[in-house]
Amino acid sequence: MAHSLPHSKIVAQISKESIEKVLEATDIVDLIGSYIQVKKAGSQYKALCPFHHEKSPSFTITPSRQYFHCFGCGKGGSAITFIRDYENLPFVDAVKKLATRAGIHLVEEASDPKEDQSRRARGRLLDVHREATAFSTSC
Ligand SMILES: [Zn+2]
Repeated sequence: MAHSLPHSKIVAQISKESIEKVLEATDIVDLIGSYIQVKKAGSQYKALCPFHHEKSPSFTITPSRQYFHCFGCGKGGSAITFIRDYENLPFVDAVKKLATRAGIHLVEEASDPKEDQSRRARGRLLDVHREATAFSTSC
């Protein structure tokens, strides 16, 4: 029985460019530091790993590469990976969360043209309504 990876399906909804934009706008030290306590250690940052129990920090963040890695449990990746695993979110939600945090509007590739059309129509109606109100108040 072949299982299709839900992961690859979800990734297709957000363009690679958007993901790169989100990562560019996110400082991984700042992000992880808002979840757990991180300590500067030379050019890197260290923390107690949130993904496994440990007493001495083996969780390392490398700001120059915007990458984290835990020598204890082997977890590692980008800011998106961290949010996904820490909050246990689907990849796409992790990207969205970071985008919101960075104030980026995500362009989703798989948009429904019908939905777009009705949105535009609603927008026009609103404009007409606004004009009508302006007219009646000026009389
Ligand atoms: Zn770990």
